Amino acid sequence: MARIWNFSAGPAALPQPVLEQVRDELLDWHGAGMGVMEMSHRGKEFTGIVQQAEADLRALLGVPESYRVLFLQGGATQQFAQIPMNLLTGGSADYLVTGSWSKKALKEAQRVVAGTASVRCAGSTEADGFVGLPDPQALAFDPRAAYFHLCTNETIHGVEVPPDYPLPSAVPVVADMSSHILSRPVDVSRYGLIYAGAQKNIGPSGVTLVIVREDLLGRAGPTTPSVMDFSVMAENGSMLNTPPTFAIYVAGLVFQWLRAQGGLPAIERANAEKAALLYACIDGSGGFYRNPVAPACRSRMNVPFTLADSGLDAAFLSETKAAGLASLKGHKSFGGMRASIYNAMPLAGVRVLVDFMNDFARRHG
Ligand code: PMP
Repeated sequence: MARIWNFSAGPAALPQPVLEQVRDELLDWHGAGMGVMEMSHRGKEFTGIVQQAEADLRALLGVPESYRVLFLQGGATQQFAQIPMNLLTGGSADYLVTGSWSKKALKEAQRVVAGTASVRCAGSTEADGFVGLPDPQALAFDPRAAYFHLCTNETIHGVEVPPDYPLPSAVPVVADMSSHILSRPVDVSRYGLIYAGAQKNIGPSGVTLVIVREDLLGRAGPTTPSVMDFSVMAENGSMLNTPPTFAIYVAGLVFQWLRAQGGLPAIERANAEKAALLYACIDGSGGFYRNPVAPACRSRMNVPFTLADSGLDAAFLSETKAAGLASLKGHKSFGGMRASIYNAMPLAGVRVLVDFMNDFARRHG
């Protein structure tokens, strides 16, 4: 069986030991005589699985006691609507726009609260093409906002908010961490709410993680559907209805794999090394490859780059494919290429890519 080096932005590669364990347990989980997909979500086996997953996640991220962990459905896109439904029932919220995803989040919030509250853009880098972060001094924070929303890693534009970027302290900070959660340590206490779709660093698509500070529960409007209400889901241990059981199980195995790697400090070191290698290849190519993002906020997870001669794009893609390097085509709104190098991508895979890129540049430069 030949596994390729998969640079997909998501759904993305999963750690091979996790996939092997899933395969081994598929028909009979721990002697239960059935697989996890076939179990009642209310039975003792699955209850144990979800409790262990939450405990491992809490240990990895150092989630304080005063936060609830929810395993929801609908993807990060549903959170674009669910967050204002739960936290913005009047007044206004501030959004920082640093790429396509935070722009979508702002638009969806405006749609959801139309006429009942306001959604403000507190700063945007769109005019510069989403290649950096705004000067924090220049942001127009509203100290009375219901919350401040940002996307801490823009998957398409490859812009990552560094841990020392100042965030407002007077209002709850809500962060879309879909594409870099669990890639480095994070101080959860700086945030009121963290959310992430699973299909990059957590597990299969279908489960959406929400980590919410308890004092933000209970603020949803009276017509909010129960499954969309954070406090109802929290009261019911994310099991008001049937949760995405298989996705939660696989996520739990990914959390255990991460702990076995040495947790987030260890995975951060590996991710920093992978990203440094790839950016050095791009920057050292004499302009053959280019990444436009300001170095201080270049993403360690998603590395978009263009070829100086876009006429070579098709050859680059077909040759990478032939070399066993998959899913490098850039997002349609950025063009060029994108290499997503999430936790499950080993350094060896990035080395193969970089060797290919150097060779391709030599042959075509
Ligand atoms: N936010 C970010 C940062 C993303 O990368 C994505 C998906 N690529 C989304 C939101 C949307 O996620 P989903 O497809 O789970 O709705």
